[in-house]
Formats: sequence, C-alpha cells, structure tokens
Amino acid sequence: MDKNKREEIVQAVSEKIEAEKDLLTELDSAIGDGDHGINMARGAKAVMEKLPSLIEKDTGALLKGIGMAIVSSVGGASGPLYGTAFMKAGDALKGKEEPSAEDFLAAFSAAIAGIKMRGKSTTGEKTMLDALCPAESAMREAIEAKKSPKEILQAAAAAAEKGAEETTNILATKGRASYLGERSIGHRDPGAVSSAFMLRAMADAI
Ligand code: ADP
Ligand code: MG
Repeated sequence: MDKNKREEIVQAVSEKIEAEKDLLTELDSAIGDGDHGINMARGAKAVMEKLPSLIEKDTGALLKGIGMAIVSSVGGASGPLYGTAFMKAGDALKGKEEPSAEDFLAAFSAAIAGIKMRGKSTTGEKTMLDALCPAESAMREAIEAKKSPKEILQAAAAAAEKGAEETTNILATKGRASYLGERSIGHRDPGAVSSAFMLRAMADAI
C-alpha cells in the first residue's frame, strides 16, 4: 500500500467520524453522558493535524502515531481505549515493510487485546468489543478464503455493523452505560457503532 492510499484511508475514516458525530453523541446521550461524538471528532481532528508528519512513515509507525494523537487529545473511556488499540496495532506491524493480510489480522488482534487489557473488558458487556471481536473473526475467515483486501475489510465492516446492532439487546456491564443497569437495554452502544463506522470507512476507501 503506498502512502497516498494510506493517507486517503485515514482521511476517509476521519471524515466518516465527523459526518456521524451527531449520531454518536445522540447514542451516548441515551446511555452515557453524550460526548462520544465530540470525543471521536476531537480525536479525528488531532489525527488529521498530525498526519503530514506521519505519512512518510511505514504503516506500523503511522498507526502508532495515530494512537498517540488520540491518547493525547481525547479524554473519556474511548480515548485511551482507541488510542491503545492503534498503538498496539502499530507495534504489531513494526518493521514490516509490506504487511500481508495475516500481518493486518495480527495487528487487529493486538488492538483488541489492548482494549481488553486497558478496559478490563470482554465481549457481551455492550462495548466496542462487541463490534470489533466479530469483525476479527470475519476477517480471519475472509483471509482463509483467500479474499482480496477490500473483501476482507468489507466482511469485517459487515460483521461489526451486525455486532453493533446486536448490542441493543445487551445489558451494559462496563463503562458509564452500566450505571443504567436494565435501562441500558434497547439502545445501541455508541463505541460499537463508532467501531463499525471506522471499519466501513476503511472498507469503502481501500
Ligand atoms: P465516556 O464513557 O468516558 O463518556 P465515550 O463516551 O467517548 O467515553 O465512550 C464510550 C464508549 O466506550 C462506550 O460506548 C463503550 O463502547 C466504550 N467503553 C467504555 N468502557 C469500556 C471498557 N471498559 N472496555 C471497552 N470499551 C469500553
Ligand atoms: Mg460518553
């Protein structure tokens, strides 16, 4: 992947976040404190500001730089969690000049492991993990079936969208939504929805 393509993908993800800012905030207003769209947009802006200094680097260093931009600009739960995810993915790709699909899967798995560690969380708790973990499985299946990079990301995005939809029925046991107990049921998790948006933007852009 050349640097122009990488830049296009990062930009597409940032634009998607900006475009969906109000929806993300609305979702977080229902079961949280109504700042998820604001947090995500702040992170996207910080990434775009830092992008010119990152784009000459390889994919691993780019992802790590994105994670650091997010961690240093976004508060709340999602900033450290997404920031850690991107930094772990970057570490996993360190030194890989031409990362393969398997390398990207390993990086995605490292990102998820980072979120689980940092958030002390797992699937079934109504978080971003309920979108990201199905996406990881779909990615693995698509790679085993020798699909193209675009098809692999499309499969991941579709699985994340389905997972995000299904968070509606989950009782939140992590994050702010857990304070609502039973009342968290009936709403999608904002972080699961933002994860699905990012994967969809990548799939469209690649
Ligand atoms: P805050 O909850 O601090 O206001 P945000 O609103 O930006 O931060 O992010 C909320 C999202 O973060 C949730 O929708 C959920 O997906 C995710 N989240 C919160 N806590 C955790 C956790 N422990 N593990 C994984 N994801 C979490
Ligand atoms: Mg919030």
